[in-house]
Amino acid sequence: MRDTMQDVAFHALSVTDALERVQGSEQGLTGEEAASRLLTHGQNRLPQAARRSAVVRFLSQFNNILIYVLLAAALVTFLLEHAVDAGVILAVVLVNAIVGFLQEGRAEAAMDAIRGMLALRSSVLRNGQRRSIDATDLVIGDVVLFEAGDRIPADLRIMEAHGVKVSEAALTGESVPVDKIADPVARNCAIGDRSSMLFSGTLVATGSGRGLVVATGSRTEIGRISGLLSDVVTLTTPLVHQMDVFARWLTLFILILAGILLLYGSSFGALPFSELFMTVVGLSVAAIPEGLPAVMTITLAVGVQAMAKRNAIVRRLPAIETLGSVSVICTDKTGTLTRNEMTVATLVTRDHVFAVDGVGYAPDGAIRLHDADADRQEHRILIDMARASALCNDAMLSVSGNTWRVEGDPMEGALMALAGKITGGGPDPFSGEWDRLATIPFDAAHRYMAVLHEERNGQRLIHVKGAPEAVLALCKDQRCAEGGTRDVETGYWADEIEALAAKGQRVLALAVRSVRGNHRNLSAADLDGHLTLLGLVGLIDPPRKEAIAAVAACHRAGIGVKMITGDHAGTARAIAAMIGLKHTDRVLTGQDIDQLDDLQLEHAALDVDIFARTSPAHKLRLVIALQARGLTVAMTGDGVNDAPALKRADAGIAMGQKGSEAAKEAAEIVLADDNFASIVAAVSEGRTVYDNLKKVISWTLPTNAGEALTIVVALFAGLSLPITAVQILWINLVTTITLGFALAFEPSEAATMSRPPRQRNEPLLGVELLWNIVLVSLLFAAAVFGIYFYALGRDYDPALARTMAMNMLVVLEIFHLFFIRNFYTTSLTWRAVRGTPAVWFCVVTVTFAQFSVTYLPSLQAWFGTQPVPFVDGLLIVALGCVFFALVETEKQIRIALRRSRNVA
Ligand code: ATP
Repeated sequence: MRDTMQDVAFHALSVTDALERVQGSEQGLTGEEAASRLLTHGQNRLPQAARRSAVVRFLSQFNNILIYVLLAAALVTFLLEHAVDAGVILAVVLVNAIVGFLQEGRAEAAMDAIRGMLALRSSVLRNGQRRSIDATDLVIGDVVLFEAGDRIPADLRIMEAHGVKVSEAALTGESVPVDKIADPVARNCAIGDRSSMLFSGTLVATGSGRGLVVATGSRTEIGRISGLLSDVVTLTTPLVHQMDVFARWLTLFILILAGILLLYGSSFGALPFSELFMTVVGLSVAAIPEGLPAVMTITLAVGVQAMAKRNAIVRRLPAIETLGSVSVICTDKTGTLTRNEMTVATLVTRDHVFAVDGVGYAPDGAIRLHDADADRQEHRILIDMARASALCNDAMLSVSGNTWRVEGDPMEGALMALAGKITGGGPDPFSGEWDRLATIPFDAAHRYMAVLHEERNGQRLIHVKGAPEAVLALCKDQRCAEGGTRDVETGYWADEIEALAAKGQRVLALAVRSVRGNHRNLSAADLDGHLTLLGLVGLIDPPRKEAIAAVAACHRAGIGVKMITGDHAGTARAIAAMIGLKHTDRVLTGQDIDQLDDLQLEHAALDVDIFARTSPAHKLRLVIALQARGLTVAMTGDGVNDAPALKRADAGIAMGQKGSEAAKEAAEIVLADDNFASIVAAVSEGRTVYDNLKKVISWTLPTNAGEALTIVVALFAGLSLPITAVQILWINLVTTITLGFALAFEPSEAATMSRPPRQRNEPLLGVELLWNIVLVSLLFAAAVFGIYFYALGRDYDPALARTMAMNMLVVLEIFHLFFIRNFYTTSLTWRAVRGTPAVWFCVVTVTFAQFSVTYLPSLQAWFGTQPVPFVDGLLIVALGCVFFALVETEKQIRIALRRSRNVA
């Protein structure tokens, strides 16, 4: 069928003809038919561009200025007849390339897995039932339900459209949304004018409707234009980029220094040129942090994976760093702080307050009045409320076993269940008798939904449900118990709304209007001042337990939490109190915010934690106000109109489940489970990643500097070298690429979430780190020279003295690793000593390598080493302990000083 479909001008066909061409039906395909079409025609996806092959990826590891320098050094070394040294340099290059290659592969795999988690889903009708499926499983003939914020998953012929506007920028470059309707258009009109079609990849800006799939995958318009989907992952963040640049400058600096040393040494030094050259090469290799970029990349990849495991999917890598510095989280209420598992608990009419029983979404349960079952015949208004609930509704209930599930909005699911409870007529009691003619979809801006239906006998009714203020404003009167109507008693309803909200219930109002038999369309003018209020519905949505703990964790971590909700102020306040937000005495509503100028809002935004009845525009203003106060803002969002606020926030976070595609695309992070606790987990991981990047740098730079300093001092002081060039190369080979990597896998420190957020502009190489580099470099040089002269003093062979100095350096690097692991707190805990598998793997590898180079005769011949006596070995380890004690004491003093400063 696929091949014959391509030339059909679906835009010019009527819906009936289009259905016929694709052999579909209004009710959608059957499951079996869809499966068989999928098998014959393939999945709905664009072909991927070919990846770089493994060989190309491996070779690209050598395309790096540092590597060129090393290769040149290896060549000259070889020409100077230092074959072993040349071999070791080549081994350094090769091992670096292999490690870089493997890590890059791993990082790409991590990003791929994440892309898989962000797969587009789509609502379709199968066997007349609404289902959510992977967009790749769509086939020609499927009926797709779409609404504002959705990305269109395939080319669709519109079957039904209510106020639909679509942004077709992805296809036509035109950014202003265009109107879409179901009527056919001229056969020869251009793509941009095909208002009866929705094209794959475009974004629904407003409205809702349903469409028939007429082309999938590469047969869609976008597939024909773009052909291949390129998916290059950029694995970098500002910090990594900054370090890349830093590493380049450092290389240049080291090369200049090496040049000067070479000149100085050959003019004034005692070493023969070839030995001098080797020493300078050794120094350069020691000082150049060639492994740093690779270690930083893998640190990020490990962070991305750790976040994904905790349900936070990173769409843009730099967000990882930003998350670590978040100082205020602005969050939605429904689904994020609460479970979004709604149940109707209360019905309020003019004369009575009913309690509703039942659990979950099962459409059975009692309606009680004063603890007795309410008589439906006596309270006819209950049937009217059931009808309004069920008809003004896009959700569907389905059952498997004993469990009832909702397809669609959980709140609407709860209203369906309510209708079943009132009528006793199952999950969709009115569907057979009423046909929907028109809809005004729910929109956060007007906060109601309206539908026009026709009954089989010709009666036409408009039903409206929505936020009580919004619906009350449209009502001309209210329904009485006796059946008649009377003027709206605003005071009574206001009290009832407050009473429900104070219990944390979400309140909806239901209203109805009867219209003439020829009334077909629906607009706001049909509602305004024409509706009859039926009553109120109170829904409970319990807070998430884990959100309560997460809010407390935020407060401990110095992070503010602000609830920004579209819900009623009273409901928001009650939920905020249950969740444990700080300032629950003040609530600012959208209307209040409108009264404030930007400066006033900046002040208010700091003091207030609850914002109710807000619209997306208010979210944007709040982000800007908080940022103006120097805060780093994380903001959640789900609707299509949340995109500007998400983009503006430092970390935009979209809801993976209830969020629209528009929100997800604007956000940096997507929450797989919509849970507030996952945001906090992501912040904690963000802090850990930043810490680990810092640790990698803090370990690499001082060890490099320490090695380099040892050689520089020896050269300038005219001393014999305590470590030969080839030994330095060896140390670099085994330590920097093993020990450094251990830090990429560091878990969060215990204190990660009990310190205040990092300042956004905090420099990476701050005073503390610079001081640490100086201190560690000096201690390294002192220990290496110390052990060297100690050995010479005991009349050991100079080769043995050098072997001891080399082992000293490695032992220092291992102890330094254990010191760096706990940057903010003491290292003297069992947890710190116990280490991690990664740490011990690296330590064992390095120790094994050192034993080999020290005691294996073949390696001794290459590296000029001699076996170190047992007691001297112990001395070296003891000196390592002393080094550790010194740097640890210095850290403890620093921590104590900082604490006393903070207390003061
Ligand atoms: P949050 O922003 O915390 O997720 P919310 O879901 O309450 O809160 P909105 O979706 O903007 O925010 O809803 C605002 C109000 O509009 C709700 O309190 C409710 O009264 C009403 N409302 C929400 N969904 C619908 C709907 N499908 N039909 C009619 N009215 C609705």
